[in-house]
Amino acid sequence: MNVPFVDLKTQYSNIKQEILNEINEVLDNTAYICGKKTKKFEKDFSDLLNIRYAVGLSSGTDALHVALYALGIGPGDEVIVPVNTFIATSEGVSLCGAKPVFVDNDVKTYNIDAGKIEKAINSKTKAIIPVHLYGQPAEMDSIMEIANKHGLYVVEDCSQAHLAKYKGKIVGGIGNIGTFSFYPGKNLGAYGEAGAVATADETLYNIMLRYRQHGSIEKYVHEIEGHNYRMEEIQAGVLNVKLKYISKWTESRRRVAKLYTDSFVKMGIKEVAAPYHPEYTEPVYHLYVLRVSQREKLVEFLDKKGIQTGLHYPIPLHMQKAYGHLGYKKGDFPVAEKYAGEILSIPMYPEMNEEMVQYVSTSIGEFYS
Ligand SMILES: *Cc1c(COP(=O)(O)O)cnc(C)c1O
Repeated sequence: MNVPFVDLKTQYSNIKQEILNEINEVLDNTAYICGKKTKKFEKDFSDLLNIRYAVGLSSGTDALHVALYALGIGPGDEVIVPVNTFIATSEGVSLCGAKPVFVDNDVKTYNIDAGKIEKAINSKTKAIIPVHLYGQPAEMDSIMEIANKHGLYVVEDCSQAHLAKYKGKIVGGIGNIGTFSFYPGKNLGAYGEAGAVATADETLYNIMLRYRQHGSIEKYVHEIEGHNYRMEEIQAGVLNVKLKYISKWTESRRRVAKLYTDSFVKMGIKEVAAPYHPEYTEPVYHLYVLRVSQREKLVEFLDKKGIQTGLHYPIPLHMQKAYGHLGYKKGDFPVAEKYAGEILSIPMYPEMNEEMVQYVSTSIGEFYS
């Protein structure tokens, strides 16, 4: 059997006619950027999140830049970022001219270790960006408590966590701003680049709305200098179709995750650690990430059986050449460094059937027996 790591084709076949209708409408209307479909998306997405305002943007990376800009973050400022995340999180900080400061990850959830945040705070620190990595909510109560104590902003990077819940609350609306990516492979994916920010704060909303479009909401009247971070109508049309299904797809991801976890528990392989989540979180399983021993051999074994896997992420940010100038060294973040050699993402998407899930988990069992 072949089990790809992701499968965007099956989902597309299921909604093909609706998608083509939306795209045709955009072409017929000849309004291609930030029009009616973007407005509809912003309204429906913010309703779904239960966060007052949303702004449709060109990517999740741009969303981070817009959010931090709106909070007034700039040169001389520092922003705390988990060392275990995709580089876009820290790029958002650098795009503002500020400096990313890394914090190691929690041994159980792989998210930022809230217990290590305070050591990274100094007089230059302005914000914390918890990332709800793999679709697992970060420890928001502790993070908000630290932020409030030190007067810091909180930007939630929800790029992998659309509709995930922390203590009953949808992520993105706990801190000051939530940022989202709709990169095709994300839980809510466009058919191209797209992203969004969400906030309950009207002032921040107004700044972000302007920054998206050259500092302007009225043509050729520029209150500030901004950027071109507009959402395309074709992508908004695609997202409007997919918004109708996202809750159902999220349930399917949870079903797949439960099948995986149940079978790993049943097999009781001591070389495999399944993902952990506290009972007060409702993860959305953008990725299903194991920790395993003999990873390279296992990957090869699975590959021969037609099972594709991924690594998220193989090199912690402080060890990336791009951050050589920050002066970190090997040993600075022992948990992230250890886990980088052990993590393994196995296939996870809503369209996986029970047979596929069993094939993946029993193949892993077979390798260790
Ligand atoms: C995908 C992703 C981003 C960036 O989103 P793009 O839309 O690709 O720019 C940011 N942060 C995290 C954690 C992501 O996974």
